[in-house]
Amino acid sequence: MLKRWRDARVFERSLERTENGPRWTFYEGPPTANGMPGVHHVEARTFKDLFPRFQTMRGFHVPRKGGWDCHGLPVEVAVEKELGLNGKKEIEAYGIAEFNARCRESVLRHVDAWLEMSERMGYWSDSEHAYRTMDADYIESVWWSLKQIFDKGLLVRDFRISPYCPRCGTPLSDHEMGQEDVYQTVTDPAITVRFPITELPAGTNPALSGADLLVWTTTPWTLVANTAVAVHPDATYAVARKSGDGDRVVIADDLFARVLGDGWHVAARFRGQELVGTRYSRPFGLIKIPDAHVVVPGSFVTTEDGTGLVHLAPAFGADDMETSRAHGLPVVNPVRADGRFEEDIPLVGGMFFKDADPRLIADLDERGLLFRAHQHEHSYPHCWRCGTPLLYYALPSWYIKTTAIKDQLLEQNDLTKWFPATVKEGRYGEWLRNNVDWALSRTRYWGTPLPLWICPDEHVTCVPSLASLSELAGRDLRDLDPHRPFVDSVTIACPSCGGLARRVPEVIDVWYDSGAMPFAQFGAPLRAMAEFEASYPAQFICEAIDQTRGWFYSLMAVGTMVFGRSSYENVLCLGLLLDEQGRKMSKHLGNVLAPVPLMDKHGADAMRWFFAATGSPWAARRLSEPALAEIVRKVLLTYWNTASFLVLYANAAGWPASAAASGDLSLLDRWVLSELHSVVRDVTSGLESFDSAGAGRRLAGFIDDLSNWYVRRARRRFWDGDPAAFATLYECLVTLTCLMAPFTPFVTDYVWDVLRGSGSVHLASWPSADTSFIDTSLTEQMRLVRRLVDLGRSARAGASVRTRQPLGQALVGAAGFGTLPAELRELIASELNVVSVASLDDGVELVDYTVKPAYRALGARFGSSTPAVAAAIGSLPPADVAAAVLDGGSFEVFVDGSAVALGPADVVVTQTPREGWAVASADGETVALDVTITPSLRSLGLAREVIRLVQDGRKTAGLDVSDRIWLRWSAADADLIEALTTHGSLIASEVLATDYGFGTGSDAGFADAELGLRFWLRRA
Ligand SMILES: [Zn+2]
Ligand SMILES: [Zn+2]
Repeated sequence: MLKRWRDARVFERSLERTENGPRWTFYEGPPTANGMPGVHHVEARTFKDLFPRFQTMRGFHVPRKGGWDCHGLPVEVAVEKELGLNGKKEIEAYGIAEFNARCRESVLRHVDAWLEMSERMGYWSDSEHAYRTMDADYIESVWWSLKQIFDKGLLVRDFRISPYCPRCGTPLSDHEMGQEDVYQTVTDPAITVRFPITELPAGTNPALSGADLLVWTTTPWTLVANTAVAVHPDATYAVARKSGDGDRVVIADDLFARVLGDGWHVAARFRGQELVGTRYSRPFGLIKIPDAHVVVPGSFVTTEDGTGLVHLAPAFGADDMETSRAHGLPVVNPVRADGRFEEDIPLVGGMFFKDADPRLIADLDERGLLFRAHQHEHSYPHCWRCGTPLLYYALPSWYIKTTAIKDQLLEQNDLTKWFPATVKEGRYGEWLRNNVDWALSRTRYWGTPLPLWICPDEHVTCVPSLASLSELAGRDLRDLDPHRPFVDSVTIACPSCGGLARRVPEVIDVWYDSGAMPFAQFGAPLRAMAEFEASYPAQFICEAIDQTRGWFYSLMAVGTMVFGRSSYENVLCLGLLLDEQGRKMSKHLGNVLAPVPLMDKHGADAMRWFFAATGSPWAARRLSEPALAEIVRKVLLTYWNTASFLVLYANAAGWPASAAASGDLSLLDRWVLSELHSVVRDVTSGLESFDSAGAGRRLAGFIDDLSNWYVRRARRRFWDGDPAAFATLYECLVTLTCLMAPFTPFVTDYVWDVLRGSGSVHLASWPSADTSFIDTSLTEQMRLVRRLVDLGRSARAGASVRTRQPLGQALVGAAGFGTLPAELRELIASELNVVSVASLDDGVELVDYTVKPAYRALGARFGSSTPAVAAAIGSLPPADVAAAVLDGGSFEVFVDGSAVALGPADVVVTQTPREGWAVASADGETVALDVTITPSLRSLGLAREVIRLVQDGRKTAGLDVSDRIWLRWSAADADLIEALTTHGSLIASEVLATDYGFGTGSDAGFADAELGLRFWLRRA
């Protein structure tokens, strides 16, 4: 099939066919090809393929340009590992040009595996013209868009505290901090340290003189850079005095008891404001921090834990930074970008920040400044990529001020349709409402370089293209590789002052790259502007739910900033894929299933059906091999067998395929066509609203209706070559094949070819529902018929009467039965294998009731009178008691001359079908079968057995379904001989015998010991 699609250029032709149709734009969220594709990629690609196929069949033009995400830290980390490099210093020593060349090579390493997986699953995408985020055209588009943002004043440099990975040497963005595994529970030292007061502002409470400020911290290493202590100006603080030695410490009043406990008492109380301006002796004098070490007010201080006095190290905390800035305190950072203290610092020089804790604590202890120390379990962030503990670190960084366009983003979100709808105001809306500026820059190597040049006077020039860079640099750079290090060596004359401007060293967040794909995939607007304009915004994007803060956000944010509107209208969020045990599939757990072998085993169609149709797209689902095997068995094979049946009998009957149902339609034909059209209607509206699961349920239901009801009931007509039956089944199958094509493109195209003799279902038009075929009352009637048949079958099973044994009559009690057309009543009779079906008149009792006293209940109520009550119950007609209590009512008995009311709890009613009847009831509907087997019924039953044996014999003899036969039989049993004679013409017509009679053949023939029958057959 894949070869057929390739050879016939079916995908290309499906695009050409719709070229003049309206656009329906889909954006491919680019995967990174430096990893192998997994089953969860098949999940995403199933939906990314299904809806475009659906819309294409409806006449929309849906170009599907593939794409690859090429940049980013994950790529760099993988290459670092391969090369055995550790950290940025080693990368730079290795050479940025060579390092980036390795990155470039590695990102497309698994493209072949991706293409193989995509082709195998039937994912149609234009991979030949796929965009790559590392191409110069793409990067130029990104530069152009950054220039738009820069010109709006939204791209700014700021010195901020960011979570920072010292190993990777880069800050982590907020969406990276939202990754799983970032926060881990670790045990760190928590220490309470004395900061001795050295100088009090005039007029302060004298009790403070000579006291120590108590400060609590879980990051002892930050004490090296202590710059100030913050107190809440409105909180109450206390000077506590220790009984005996007169030791005095300062602490928030609320925390007095918890931190100090017995042996201490309050010497004085005052407001935090009074402490402001107090000077203290800092815990370590290892580095120079001028004009500092003073108590400042801070409204962020709480008195819920710690001591209510907070140590500030402005380079390592956002509150610290903000408060220090507000009070003109210096920002001193003794920790290098690799997470180690500067070499020349005494005590901790060259140590990794966290490793310095024990040494610092010991030193505090020696100097009598350690008030208390213990181990503290808390949640601490780690790099999601490499696992290194993060530090909060002051970095100059470039930001996009997304907070300035928050209202616009919320507006755009309002206009967006989310599937499921809850994400809009929930997960995603929450994210937008708490929007923070986008930390855009990364101090790394393999990424889109930030196109900013800066002169010694700090004039910033944003360059939108290589052409513009050529102009500014005064040489032709249009063929320059815009990556580092090549672009780093380009200097320009500052347009403001003429000074020598150099590029800032940073590259940008890869999420910006992918957010720019709507225009950058075409190189627009520098190139292919028309193509871009025709495909913006997208009608459909689809990725896993974890992209809410990733691609879904970056696409919307970039689109809104650059073009004033979001890049997409509908977004489908996919649920997680779990393994059989319900665990997330991850490389970590080693439970990732390789997609291609799984598809080779069960078929790509089964896998696609599993994802698209067995649960809502956004629900998590468990993938297992048994689940796939069941889809093959229940859905795909049933569909396949129905199509094979049609082809087999149509060929046998010489029926010429024609599209429209003609001839005399039976009620069954009209019913199945009514079902067909309502399925077309429902599947269309389901897929329009991205409900592939609802659509899949309707399709699976119809396949079952068609095979297990329509074909089953109409089988005889196919044998007889009834053109109405052929035309009806043909129309159902052709339409069903179209409806299923976006789900299971392989089997449907095969069936299409067999049914139609040429072409591809993927070039066909989507069927439209003709509501004049839809007959809801017929649907209801057929539902009733099928319920009654189910009841009849269970009645027969309860009475252990073989299915092939015909019975005399079935009586039915059900609302709506009286108005069933004769044709449907006959259908019930034939399905239940009874001679006639009639209405169960009221008053005809098919069961006998026995009523026994419930002694336990009666005993509790009547005590010693119980036997008398029981006797009275026994004297009543059981049917009357049953009639009363089965409806939940009551009845009366007379005991010792007085009336006693009894209810359902006082008796035990058992029903036994009346002799000769088998009864089944459910929900107010009853079917009763007369199971008395008269001699003539027994004879007919024997004839049916013979028919079955002869049919088996035909198969064994390898005869075609339409072959007419010569048949001879012999039997010893008188009843059997009678049946073979009386029902001779029935048997002959059922088994297509043109020559039928008593006698023997020349060979061994066929024999059935149980029945005592022998027969011989051959092609007539
Ligand atoms: Zn890291
Ligand atoms: Zn300048």
